[in-house]
Formats: sequence, structure tokens, C-alpha cells
Amino acid sequence: MAADQDIIDPAAGNWLFAQGCAFERGISALEQLPNADRPEFAFAGRSNVGKSSLLNTLTGRSNLARVSNTPGRTQQLNFFRLPDAKTGLFLVDLPGYGFAKAPKTEARRWSDLTLRYLRGRSSLARVFVLIDARHGLKPADEAFMSDLDESAVSYQIVLTKTDKLSESALAERIAETQGRARAHVAAHPRLVATSSVTNAGISLLRGEIAALIDLAALGYKGAPKPPPEG
Ligand code: GDP
Repeated sequence: MAADQDIIDPAAGNWLFAQGCAFERGISALEQLPNADRPEFAFAGRSNVGKSSLLNTLTGRSNLARVSNTPGRTQQLNFFRLPDAKTGLFLVDLPGYGFAKAPKTEARRWSDLTLRYLRGRSSLARVFVLIDARHGLKPADEAFMSDLDESAVSYQIVLTKTDKLSESALAERIAETQGRARAHVAAHPRLVATSSVTNAGISLLRGEIAALIDLAALGYKGAPKPPPEG
């Protein structure tokens, strides 16, 4: 049984992500998908949003997502298993969208693959839609979110690069983004504000993932209980 999804426990998230993570495979056709035998968490966003940095920071592996950025792999859906070969979950690094330099036909080919994956994947627990905190929601983000709404794929907005904003500008950006997300039926009401530079929000994001999986089955015993009073 999964934990209560509304109780976010950063300590549980940190425990989960300390269990180890490894590259599983990159796919360029749906036939190559791994078995849908565990919860999956996909990461999407415009090119340059900070997706590789976030995946590296989340997993504590400075080179993990580099594999996704190597030529030839950028068009693939890259799967990482956490913690091991048989149990746990998959993190999925989706190709960046809205990349002006990609040839039109190629851009359409991978967006087709990505959307077919998102619409048909029974084990997909949540999509994290990464948004650069400096820029907020752009038309390409809203279009992607509308695609997810139509397909009833639940997703959550993650702001990246929050260290680039002052506290007040960030508070404004969060309020504005949350307000606009309310118009999207499949958007989760909570937003996670992160920075891969300061690590802000990283444990919280791990906690969001931990809240959707069966941690006890992975051996998590929970935080030690405080001693009884008196
Ligand atoms: P991707 O194309 O979405 O995978 O983005 P990358 O992770 O490669 O990051 C794009 C650029 O943004 C790089 O120059 C990163 O160093 C920078 N970047 C990524 N995350 C952060 C962050 O949290 N804070 C700051 N200041 N820069 C970041």
C-alpha cells in the first residue's frame, strides 16, 4: 500500500534516493519499453529548463543524466531504475520540447513517441513538468499541459533555477504559476520550487515521489519514534 499522498515526508524521500540509482535503457520506440511492473515518474520540460541538472541533484549522481544529453540519446526516453533491477521505481527523462533548433519532422517524431508513451503507460504515477522560474509558463508548456489534461495524465509543476530569483520575485512567480495551473484539470495543486544549485526543494520533490510508492516494501522502517514523554 502506498503512503498517504498528501503527507510529504522529505526524510522518507531522502532515504529512497539514498538507495542507489542506475541507467536502465534508452528507448526510441514503444516496443522497447521496460515492463510496466513498478511506478514510474517522468520528467518533462523545455530544452535547457535544467532537467539534467535536476535529475543529477535528485539522485545525487553528478553524471547520471549526462547520458541523456549525449548526441543520439537526446531523442530517446531514458529510463533510470531506483533502487535496483527488480524493485522500486523508474525515473524517466523525456526529450525536451520547444527546441527551436530541432528539425520539424524530427521534433514531431519524438513528440509523437513521447505523447503515445504518456497516454498509454499504465504504470505512470506522475509527470513532473519542469518550468524555469525566471520565465514561468510559456506557450509550449501550456500546450504540453493541455495534452496531458486531455489524456488525463496527472502531473505536477516543478519550478527550476529558483536561486536566480529574489525571494519576493519567486513568491510572485509561484502564485502566478499556481493560478494558471488551476485552469488545467490534470495539474496537481501543489507546486515544488527547486534549485539544483542550492538544493532548495530537492528533498521535498523526493518526498513527493516517496509518497506515491510502497516504501515499506523497499525496507523503509520510517523515522525513529521520539521517546515516550514522562
Ligand atoms: P536541460 O537541457 O533541461 O537538461 O538543462 P541542463 O540541466 O543541462 O541545464 C541548462 C543550463 O541551466 C545549464 O547551464 C545549467 O548549469 C543551468 N542550470 C540548471 N539548473 C540550474 C539551477 O538550479 N540554478 C542555476 N542557477 N542554473 C541551473
